[in-house]
Amino acid sequence: MTTKATAESAPPVSPTLAAELREAVTSGRTRSVAWRRAQLDGIVRMLTQNLTLWERALAADLGKSADETHVSEVALVLDEARHARARVAGWMRARPVAAPLAVQPAWAHVRSEPLGVALVIAPWNYPLQLQLAPVVGALAAGDAVVMKPSELAPATAALLADLVPAYLDARAVRVVTGDAGVASALLEQRWDHIFYTGGERVARIVGAAAAQHLTPTVLELGGACPVWVDRSADLPVAARRIVWAKLMNAGQTCIAPNHVFVDAAVRDALVTELRAALAEQHPDPRTSPSYSRMVSQAHLDRVVERIGDGTAIVGGDVDRDARYVAPTFLADVAVDAPAVTEETFGPILPIVPLTDVDAFVALQRDRPKPLALYAFAGDRSVLDRIERETSSGAFGRNVALAHIMVRGLPFGGVGASGHGAYHGRRSFDLFSHAKAVLAKPTRPDTLALVIPPITERKRAVI
Ligand code: NAD
Repeated sequence: MTTKATAESAPPVSPTLAAELREAVTSGRTRSVAWRRAQLDGIVRMLTQNLTLWERALAADLGKSADETHVSEVALVLDEARHARARVAGWMRARPVAAPLAVQPAWAHVRSEPLGVALVIAPWNYPLQLQLAPVVGALAAGDAVVMKPSELAPATAALLADLVPAYLDARAVRVVTGDAGVASALLEQRWDHIFYTGGERVARIVGAAAAQHLTPTVLELGGACPVWVDRSADLPVAARRIVWAKLMNAGQTCIAPNHVFVDAAVRDALVTELRAALAEQHPDPRTSPSYSRMVSQAHLDRVVERIGDGTAIVGGDVDRDARYVAPTFLADVAVDAPAVTEETFGPILPIVPLTDVDAFVALQRDRPKPLALYAFAGDRSVLDRIERETSSGAFGRNVALAHIMVRGLPFGGVGASGHGAYHGRRSFDLFSHAKAVLAKPTRPDTLALVIPPITERKRAVI
């Protein structure tokens, strides 16, 4: 399962792939609303007509249950594709803008045009959703697309490679499977947009490659998403929501709570509630069909190392062969332990008491900006304060993870958690160039107002 990334093992990537697909855009093939709608319909049909195959692939790659596959992978892409299908004609329409007196009479508008060819590099943890959701935006924008799924989710990658040619226009949309060698070969070519989701190390490689061609990038990265549980919080609800968000995909979620900072006054009560929530949601995680597995043994080893950063008060058991790590709650973890400062990407939840919300805000200000930050409090001023005084890609008030389900919210990071945000209309804008258009009649020749010589009279008008 853990494919070693070597350039030697990589199948060849056509060095003219980007240029070939760009032709589909420059020829005008991808511009019409009909073409865009047909591709978006293709995505919808590719998912709905092959549900069992997708479920099987995700079960093979991550031990994902059919329910979780539906909620966290398929439903979101379907929603994005259907929404874009319904709105794309409106999004393509020119948007008028007022022109100032100095250039009047004139008509100004913004026209969204396709950027060209987009390269969308996806990670393994939500290998369907994180591949296709950006592609919805690219196709709605009239771009050609190359998808590069993660080699660490090989069943999903193979299924994408099989099905995409049957549902989408092969002259403009391709899937290239393979490891880092393949990705490197792709990155040598000139793309008009690169959309990368994954870890920080590779993001630097992607950014450097993009800089060679001045290609705009979106980097969707990770980070250790913190939770604050205040003394005023509704603890049973907080615990239920934290456990749900943490254990989806067995913690292998970029917006999962990484660790919990809890007001010391309610630490013990929270632990009691977290235990109860776990018992309710995953009474026997080892046999539960709704509890995922680690993607690889190498990833499991990294996750298990973090258990050593504290004392396991719940869980702690591991079955390496089955890629199983039990939901594990950790006590006695230092605020600067790797389990807290680094993204664990597994079902390990450190619970770290702090004196009060002041300590939480102060600590958070010194840390890299996470993809999401969550706070649970009954006292609204505590939530307002955290919303104002901390920075993160997203902020959940008494909720974790569910912001990804709100299409109107931008999904993306800030600082170390990445840049650029998508979903809904934003995805379309991200993959489009907003072209400024100004039209001016030749008579009357009023531009003379700004053409020298600038007289006192002209000056008074401008
Ligand atoms: P990964 O190892 O699957 O890598 C992601 C992609 O990068 C793959 O397609 C891979 O082939 C490619 N790649 C690997 N080496 C490369 C190289 N040298 N050059 C070019 N491409 C290369 O995924 P990962 O990095 O382990 O992903 C996990 C990380 O992704 C976590 O940090 C997580 O938080 C983050 N993530 C972020 C989001 C988000 O939306 N912001 C979503 C999911 C995951």
